[in-house]
Amino acid sequence: MNNRLYGNLIFELSHPGRRAYSLPKNNFGNYDFPSHLKREKDAELPECDELTVVRHYTNHSGNNFGVNNGFYPLGSCTMKYNPIINEEIAAMPSFAGLHPMQPISTVQGALEVEYNLKKALANISGLYDFTLNPYAGAQGEFVGLMVIASYHQKRGDFKRTKIIIPDSAHGTNPASAAVCGLEIVEVKSKANGLVDVEDLKPLLGDDIAGMMMTNPNTLGLFEKEIPEIAKLVHECGGLMYYDGANLNPLLGVARPGDMGFDVMHINIHKTFSTPHGGGGPGNGPVGVREDLVEFLPKPHVVRTENGYDVELPQNTGDYALNCMRVGRNMGNFLVSLRAYTYILTLGKENLKMVGPYATLNANYIKECLKDDYELPIESVCMHEFVFDGLKDKSTGITTMDVAKRLLDYGFHAPTIYFPLLFHEAMMIEPTETESKKTLDDFINIMHVIAKEAKEQPTELKEAPHNTPIGRVDDVLAAKNPILNYRQSLANQAK
Ligand SMILES: *Cc1c(COP(=O)(O)O)cnc(C)c1O
Repeated sequence: MNNRLYGNLIFELSHPGRRAYSLPKNNFGNYDFPSHLKREKDAELPECDELTVVRHYTNHSGNNFGVNNGFYPLGSCTMKYNPIINEEIAAMPSFAGLHPMQPISTVQGALEVEYNLKKALANISGLYDFTLNPYAGAQGEFVGLMVIASYHQKRGDFKRTKIIIPDSAHGTNPASAAVCGLEIVEVKSKANGLVDVEDLKPLLGDDIAGMMMTNPNTLGLFEKEIPEIAKLVHECGGLMYYDGANLNPLLGVARPGDMGFDVMHINIHKTFSTPHGGGGPGNGPVGVREDLVEFLPKPHVVRTENGYDVELPQNTGDYALNCMRVGRNMGNFLVSLRAYTYILTLGKENLKMVGPYATLNANYIKECLKDDYELPIESVCMHEFVFDGLKDKSTGITTMDVAKRLLDYGFHAPTIYFPLLFHEAMMIEPTETESKKTLDDFINIMHVIAKEAKEQPTELKEAPHNTPIGRVDDVLAAKNPILNYRQSLANQAK
């Protein structure tokens, strides 16, 4: 690694007049932009030669940790391997070169991909149809909840303004509900981590729009009382929403539609293997039962006698969503394409192995580590599970310390301090793509760290030692983010 280059920002490498390339001579004459559109002074851009730019970003990329670098057991995020074939297909010029405004007759292949993916997701989930438009899981939640709101409003039922959400839910659930203008009613979990049906009953009434459930829930546990819960919610007139961000363990094993759910979203960037993280591209398709299809956002791809067509949004009523768009086009097409490639590559039979292997891997790690790490709920988990820190609380070593130390050993940390149900939560999700050797290496290092906690705690408190940057002050970074070059200079001057 070139350390001299590494520490710098691209702006600091700037040298007046340096160029990476030059434009060809202008043979077309000058067009004079109206003065109100013109810059008053030149944009302050870094001026660098091409080699400096290439080295700068290549060296920085080496500081990144991704699934392709090592084991990445980030719970709830499903950091599974992204097969190369996905990237090959997504890079094909006939897909990557498409323009979203191209005439429909020229994008029939892309529409076929979208149509077939919708059908595959419908098959996998047991719902009737999908929209691929939402760009992320959280936006999928928003769309799904708007579908529920629209359904009630179309029936002239305006009293249903509340949504029930378990206390264990992912933070996006209450956030999306709030953005939809729904009032959040919390239902408690029992000591075994599952939704408490007795706590739910008194919450139900004619003001309930529906209930959101995550399954497996954020503790990685299968919600065993779904049939009873769905019956109760339906009897009171509400709809059931399934947060399917973590569908991985259920692939080919069980279908939300068969369990009584009316609406769901799937994070295809998690379960169907698109590289994500760092806010990178996602897609959160939303599926619904047959009578709710009319509320899905448009544009929407449909099959016609001689190919595929796109239904555009129309103002067909004043209820919430059916006349709305949630994006200009039909989602992140290349993410959908990767998901479709992944489904076809595995095929129907192999897709059924994903869930069982993911579940086996998680249970294997859990059982091997539970002597050293506190397992708050003893049970067979699904694709992930949660420890509540080290078992030996006398060492003073926190989940944060363990997470930082893992980086020294070449592993990404698990999700930490989430879910909020435990103080020292450490959420581990290995996914199905890891070999037993990798799992054993991780287990071994976790044992080593537990030993270090007793024998050399300072080493842990000061970790990481082998990364270019040590501990970051997360709070300061969140409260006082430095997002541009000028501000970072001003801060250095202080
Ligand atoms: C990841 C996740 C979400 C949010 O998905 P994004 O694509 O990050 O918006 C919602 N619910 C659960 C359970 C998740 O794990």
